[in-house]
This record gives sequence, C-alpha cells and structure tokens, in this order.
Amino acid sequence: MGKAVGTKRVSVSGRTYDIPVDKDGYVPETALLNRFNNVYAGVEPRRKKRNLFKDYNDHANVVLPSKVTPEQAAAWWDRPAKYDISGIDTPGDIKVRNGVKFRGLDVEADKMSQLIDQTNSHDERKKIAASGAVYTARPLKSGVAGEHYPGTNEINLDRKVGMDHKTAAHETTHMMRHIDDSRKTAVTKSNPQVNVEESCTVAEEMARSREPDQNCGYYEHVPVFDKKTKRWRNPTYSEMVEMAREDYSIMTYGTNRPLKEKDAIRSVEDNWSKTNISRLRYRSNGEMAIKSITRQDKSYEKAAEETLKRARGEGHRPKSRSSSDIPKTPTGKGTKQATLFSLTRSNKKKSSSKRTFKSLVSKTRRIGSKK
Ligand SMILES: [Zn+2]
Repeated sequence: MGKAVGTKRVSVSGRTYDIPVDKDGYVPETALLNRFNNVYAGVEPRRKKRNLFKDYNDHANVVLPSKVTPEQAAAWWDRPAKYDISGIDTPGDIKVRNGVKFRGLDVEADKMSQLIDQTNSHDERKKIAASGAVYTARPLKSGVAGEHYPGTNEINLDRKVGMDHKTAAHETTHMMRHIDDSRKTAVTKSNPQVNVEESCTVAEEMARSREPDQNCGYYEHVPVFDKKTKRWRNPTYSEMVEMAREDYSIMTYGTNRPLKEKDAIRSVEDNWSKTNISRLRYRSNGEMAIKSITRQDKSYEKAAEETLKRARGEGHRPKSRSSSDIPKTPTGKGTKQATLFSLTRSNKKKSSSKRTFKSLVSKTRRIGSKK
C-alpha cells in the first residue's frame, strides 16, 4: 500500500470528495483508516457522529476489499456505516507476520507485529505464534484500550488508543501468564485472584516498557497511607504518577531499561512485592494484592508486612486535595475486559477536546473471565 501522491475527485449521492490516491491509483490504507476513525466524517443524517464500535460489529451487505480505487471506495467514503471495507469495519482476513496472526489492515498488522517484538524476545514470539494467538486492531468500546480473551488467545487493541507497546505488553503478558508453562510461581502465572492477576501483569508490563506508564489506570486503586488521618485513601493524580515512576524503576532493577523474557519474569518474582502496584485493591473486597497472595504462598507474608510498613512509614506526601483530584471509579461491568480511566485535573480541562479520549484512556485491564 503506497503513500498518497494526489487526490481524485469523486461524486456520490450529490456530494463531492477528493479522495487520496497512491501511485497505483488505489486509496492508501492510511487514508481509509483516517476516514473511518474520524467520527464526524460521513455521518448519517440527523446524527452527530458515527459509532465506530457499532459500525465494526454491524455487518453490512456490501464488503469491499481494502485495496480499492477512489471510485470503488466512494459509497463507503460517503457513508462508512452503510458499507464495510475488509479489515476496517469488518474483521477481514487473517494476516500472518513471522508466524503470528493479525486482523486489521496491513499497516496495522505491521504495527502490531512491531509492538510484539518491542516487548518480547524471539523465543517469546515463537510461543505467541504457537499459541494460535490472534491480535486484532479494531475499535473497542469507549474507554477500552485493549482486551484479552484467555479461552481463545485473542487480543484486541483499540486502533486509536491501544496501538502502543504498553497496551500490547499488558495484554500479551496476560496471555503469556496463561499459556507459558515455564512460568511456575504464583506471581508469574495466571492467577485466579483478579487483583493479583492485574497487579502482577502491570508489574511485568512495567518491566518490559521503555517508560513508566503514567496513565496507568490501575494506580487509581492503589491506596496510599495518609499520615494525618492515619488511614489508607485513594491517591491523587500526582501520587499515581509518582508511584508508577517508582515501580518502573523497581521493576527494571533501577536501570529504567526494559527487560524481556526470563529477565522480565524474574523481575516479577524478585521485585513485585516491593512495588506500589502490589497494594492494588481491585475487585477483591478491598483486599490488597500483596495480602491476597499470602493466602496462596505463605512465603510472601514477610514481604507483605515490609511493603505495608514502608507504605505507611513514608506515606505519599499528601497534598491539599480538591474534588477534582479524586479519581473516578471505573464503570466496567460484566465478564469482559474494560479499561480504567484516570480522570485528572488536566484531563478534565480538556474534556471537550477530541484529545481527551486519548489522554483519559489509560491502561487496559482484564476483568477476570477465566474459567
Ligand atoms: Zn489487565
């Protein structure tokens, strides 16, 4: 698929469009993607914007290939909700890159393939391929950046907000914890306790990342000890950022350089219990992950004690808070995956701009759908 070298004017239903073309006369995939992702383009009468999630899930009678001329694309360009283009608003064919399966456009398959290599070793990629995993770039529900389905090894990344190495690392880690037999410990393999599963997955995601995940929504559920009131409370946004920064350093053994394979897994074994995210309280009746783990593995009892003592001793510099500091609680429901929001002051200010979505969507999370 080439780059746009010009445009071609087409008319459809009385409307005229200048559609980008590549040197071979086809519409570049990126142009189709931009058109699809623009919720204000090709809106049906009496509607304000298009619902990308719905468009993807609804199947149109006419499915066009992703390689189309401007004339062939015209009707879809005019009303994307009425027609489908393979790989854009319908899943389309499986595309294989170095043994791993992808759905989406070619440019998206290439991108996802790259994301896997950025956060996994060659051998890990082989395991991913052998699992039959399918990575799909698609629109997900508002606020969801990524999903993992343990039963089928399917990973979905939101094509607007989830196509980054952290989301890919997070979902891939969930999958590897599930399928990789070389993982033996309670903290490195799939855990039936949701707070432990998410907590350890965030930690491993950190170990594999090139920078701390500052928008990681799970930190909203990491309590900090307030020295004044002597009680655990929800963190402020700046405390969340600081905790993520600390954890990134801890999970990379103080190097702030990403790890892969055995090194990343060992880091979870060595370091998870020292992290802030080990205090995750999420879907666990208020129990912290570091406490939950002690019921599975008694050897964590001492570490848990130390972690809580440290957190109580240092607190997290409680600052004056305003109501806008209080993180919003997530609204995810059901057994499928969803994502946490970080509703921050700066995000709130931008709430009417289109960029908000990107800045709000933080980290994918998986709500236990394991059986
Ligand atoms: Zn998760």
